Amino acid sequence: MTNCDQMYIAGQWQTARGQAVALINPATEQSAGDLICASPAQVTEAVDAARAAFDAGWGQLDTLSRAEYLRAFVAALEERREELAQCISAEIGTPIDFARAGQVGAAFAHLEATLTALDHLVNDRPLTQFDAHRIRYEPLGVAVLITPWNWPLNQVVLKVGAALAAGCCVVLKPSELSSRTAVILAKAIEAAGLPKGVFNLILGDGAVGAALVEIPQIDIVSFTGSTATGREIAKQAAQHFTRTTLELGGKSPNILFADCDLPTAVRQGVAHCFRNSGQSCNAATRMLVQRDVYDDAVALAVEAAEQTYLDAPDHPGGHQGPLVSQAQYERVQRYLQIAKDEGARFAYGGAGRPDGIEAGFYARPTVLADVTPEMTVFKDEIFGPVLCMTPFDTEDEAIAFANDSPYGLAGYIQTADEARADRVAQRLRVGMVQVNGKSREGGAPFGGMGQSGSGREAGLWGIRAFQDIKSISGVARTN
Ligand code: NAD
Repeated sequence: MTNCDQMYIAGQWQTARGQAVALINPATEQSAGDLICASPAQVTEAVDAARAAFDAGWGQLDTLSRAEYLRAFVAALEERREELAQCISAEIGTPIDFARAGQVGAAFAHLEATLTALDHLVNDRPLTQFDAHRIRYEPLGVAVLITPWNWPLNQVVLKVGAALAAGCCVVLKPSELSSRTAVILAKAIEAAGLPKGVFNLILGDGAVGAALVEIPQIDIVSFTGSTATGREIAKQAAQHFTRTTLELGGKSPNILFADCDLPTAVRQGVAHCFRNSGQSCNAATRMLVQRDVYDDAVALAVEAAEQTYLDAPDHPGGHQGPLVSQAQYERVQRYLQIAKDEGARFAYGGAGRPDGIEAGFYARPTVLADVTPEMTVFKDEIFGPVLCMTPFDTEDEAIAFANDSPYGLAGYIQTADEARADRVAQRLRVGMVQVNGKSREGGAPFGGMGQSGSGREAGLWGIRAFQDIKSISGVARTN
């Protein structure tokens, strides 16, 4: 397996000169080559290249021209669809059909929403009916983008598309576990002919990310990843008052009222929790069920879990794959032990690998029943295929349980009562609510509150996150 060591800086490919990080295939535990990190000089070089490109005029370019470049990039990415799906499947263990439809599909949907927002973007407008008081949205400048491995293309394009649309020049540092996907994306940028330095890719682990954030000349860090890393980045960014957007972890509640379509709600809820082997920030991991139907819901969840099967990432089908790494596997095992020690009931699944699987970081899909708000697994993000089920009695109690979390990313509500759905939706302390399985609309803002972070991505909100606001009084627009 060849190493991952090619970085794209100032419109040129160059070999990374920093230290090596060993990569492991999550499905086989065999070597997947090394990732070679950027050297400190290469980190600085990438930021300098982005600054030079910004000063050379990318920020001043009209939105129509920026849209043309972005469309060329999307077209070049389209040509690499299958290559991207294969790469994601190999890098993080996503089953190939889900890599194609879910991972790659979601990324293109986000790019489409960014382009739609860009087509309607107004960056200079009157404050009132008087033309001489204006509001201008201006690009922040050099944007550092740091991304995780779990949706390796999706999380990258959400940032790259929005930052370039806003007029920023970027330095992308993808996760060390999914950098080959980002290399393919950089090739699409190159093919689209963007001016040199507008997009730069550097490779590396957390230390390279930290080195980037320390540079005073950057204007914004847009980060997606764990809450712990988000905290470090926020502290460091505060030293220079560098702007941040933080998309962090979650422990999202899914409230099932007794009047919902229970079989559908449970089936969809379990699937949502286990999707991507439970490695999604907005996974519906806490299923709160009204007591009258709680036992039925647990039985239905067990049925759904029984139908969830594990298999190799390169096999077609609707199965789940391995977790991304040994560390992630051990983290899930640790939480299962804590759940056992604290008295949760294992309705399905449990510790260890599923029978018949000898290698790979495969964790058993698990349903934990009778989880109480005092338990660790009620509060912590596990990031694996583990569903926590908790009974509640009243609407107020459901809301209290749902909001009893340091996180606040997503909330899900299942009920036949529209007025109740609206009441509960308004009281949930989360950034996104979905009722009765309704998907988010393309371009809807994505993000959370509390320890799920701050700021929003996607569509218009994603673009505005990379811009600052200027008020101009006394002169109307002349060009
Ligand atoms: P992580 O925090 O370990 O790493 C994320 C990125 O940060 C990687 O590129 C890593 O190299 C880099 N990094 C690590 N330490 C750093 C430091 N000190 N300074 C700068 N950069 C550093 O997260 P992960 O394991 O890759 O991803 C999983 C996490 O991401 C989960 O908590 C998940 O909920 C979260 N996530 C959130 C969203 C969202 O939109 N809210 C989306 C996807 C994933």
